[in-house]
This record gives sequence, structure tokens and C-alpha cells, in this order.
Amino acid sequence: MHSRAEGDAREKAGRFSRQGWDGATAALPEYLYSDLTPRILTTPRASAYIKIAEGCDHPCSFCIIPQLRGKFRSRRLESIVAEAENLIAQGVREITLIGQDTTCYGEDLGLKDGLAMLLDARAVLPGLKWLRFLYAYPNKVTTRLLETMARHETISKYLDVPLQHASPSVLKRMKRGGTPEGFLRLIAKARAIVPGIVLRTSFIVGFPGETEEDFAQLEGFVREARIDWLGVFSYSDEEGAAAFGLDAALKVPKRTIEARRRRLMRLQQKISAKAKADWVGREVELLVEGESDETELLWQGRTALHAPEIDGKVLINDFGPHEMLVAGTFYRAEITESHDYDVVARILE
Ligand code: SF4
Repeated sequence: MHSRAEGDAREKAGRFSRQGWDGATAALPEYLYSDLTPRILTTPRASAYIKIAEGCDHPCSFCIIPQLRGKFRSRRLESIVAEAENLIAQGVREITLIGQDTTCYGEDLGLKDGLAMLLDARAVLPGLKWLRFLYAYPNKVTTRLLETMARHETISKYLDVPLQHASPSVLKRMKRGGTPEGFLRLIAKARAIVPGIVLRTSFIVGFPGETEEDFAQLEGFVREARIDWLGVFSYSDEEGAAAFGLDAALKVPKRTIEARRRRLMRLQQKISAKAKADWVGREVELLVEGESDETELLWQGRTALHAPEIDGKVLINDFGPHEMLVAGTFYRAEITESHDYDVVARILE
């Protein structure tokens, strides 16, 4: 089985100890599907996911994915391109590349900037309208990757980079590393190279040992970074994860965790509402998904700046010149109203 060179080197150097973590040596799943595996689309026809890699070599102490999925291994570039071509031939127009860490794509195949190479090869496929990737690791977002995003019209100006926390001491205990200053520099760089880029991240609150001060640092970061889409998760013990074994005295009470989660979400609600208000008046390309999940009086869709299933929605209350809309079709639309997370649109053509 291949593993990611950097992961092995880091393990050897002891930068992140894997003591007590036997996932890398246990019998691990080898199977990774290829373009020849029959695909049944579980997403609406215009949109599909492609898994480009499986497993993970990062040692995040709250996570058991490496134990479950094994070491990081990439699919061959040709296999991914062939699968994309098959999907496009079936009518798919939006492809979302996924993996536990898409930004490590190709490292085990000896590729440098493998994800940027893959995007370059894929963005030009005839028939493809939107291409995006999810789950970037912060220190793996390279200048070349950002430049590739900026260069191709088909690549969504959308970066999903889970940061998990913004206090260096929590990040260290999470075995993630990184600093709030470094994260802010990354965000500024992404915004400079890819104008109009939309960012998504997620944070875990209540990680063992998180003090009121650590949390205040996270709040300060969220206020400053003004990230467009934000997920906040409450820490919960995962048997088998390194953090499970941390001193019981460090564990944050459940009520405190919930209170912090609500506080951070309230802060983000204000940031999001303000950002969404700026969308009003914009003309956008909209992928119509069908009737709204909430009411049959409205329909809903997404722009390239909304990833499938996770971000806010675009609600459609005016079909413009159309009697009916066709789900899975792209329309031009104008944003006419904004809410905290969702916006409302009118179809133009
Ligand atoms: S959180 Fe993500 S990067 Fe970290 S170990 Fe789990 S899958 Fe890997």
C-alpha cells in the first residue's frame, strides 16, 4: 500500500507523535474505486461527487478516520478524468471532488501540486460547467492551487478549508498546528489571488483544555476573518481518538460547550447576514434543484458559490418568463432579497 510521503516523514521525525495510535499498522481497507466501477448517481443528475483519494495521514487527535479508512492513497489521474468524462456524458454538469484531504492529492504518486494538475486537466472537459473540490488542509493550499482556481472559469471560486480552531494551544493539542496569524495570511492570499472567492470552514468548540481565553481567541478570529460559510461542531469524545485519553480534568463540561457553540453561531449569523445583504442586486447563474425543502410555494437552487447540501440556499419566488422550471437546469437569475444565510432570487432567463 502506498502512503503519503510527507505523512511518513512527519511520523519518522516525530513531529506529531502517533504513539498509542495504531491505525497505520492495523489491517486497513485497500479498496478505492476506479472509473471502471459501475456508478449509481445518488445526487441529482446535474451534480455528482468524485472521490479522488481515500484515507488520511494527518494525526488530528479528535479524529478516527485514519484508523477507519487507512493511509492516504490517491486514484490515478487518468481514472478520475475518465470517470468525469463518463459522468458528463450522462448529463452531469457540476462535479465536486472529495477525499479526506483533497489538497494532498497525488503526493503518494510522486506528484507535486497534484490537485492543481488535476484541476487543470479537468476544468477544460467539454460540457462541464462547475468544478469544485472540498476539504483542503490549511498548509496545503498552495499559490499554484489558488492561481489554478483563478485561471479557469469552470472552477468554482469556493474554498472549503476546515481550520478546526484558532487558538495555537488548542490547535497543538488537536495535533493540527497552525496559528491564527497564519490562517489570516492564507485567507488574505486566497482573496487576493482569487477575487470574489467564498470561504467555508468548520470549528470544533469545547476541545479538552479549551479555556475561556482560547474561545475568546477563536471569536476574535471569526470576527476578523469574516468567513462566508461556517460550521461549528461541539467536541464529543470519540473512542479510539487520541483526545479520548486526555486527562479527564481537561474535559470541558457539556453545558459550556453548547453555550460556546451557540455564541459562535450567533456571531457568525451577524457576519453572514451582512455578507448576504451584499449579494442583493447581483446577477448569478443558478442551478435549479427543485421545490424548496421548506415550502412547496418556493423553489430552490444554488450558485457556484454554494456547495451541494451544506451551504445556505437560493430560494426562488419568481420564475420570470417561465411557466415552470426544470430541476437540474441552469438559469440566469437576480438576487432580490437576503436573509441570515439564504438569499431569494428571481429568474431572468
Ligand atoms: S480531521 Fe481530516 S485531516 Fe484530520 S485526521 Fe481526520 S480526516 Fe485526516
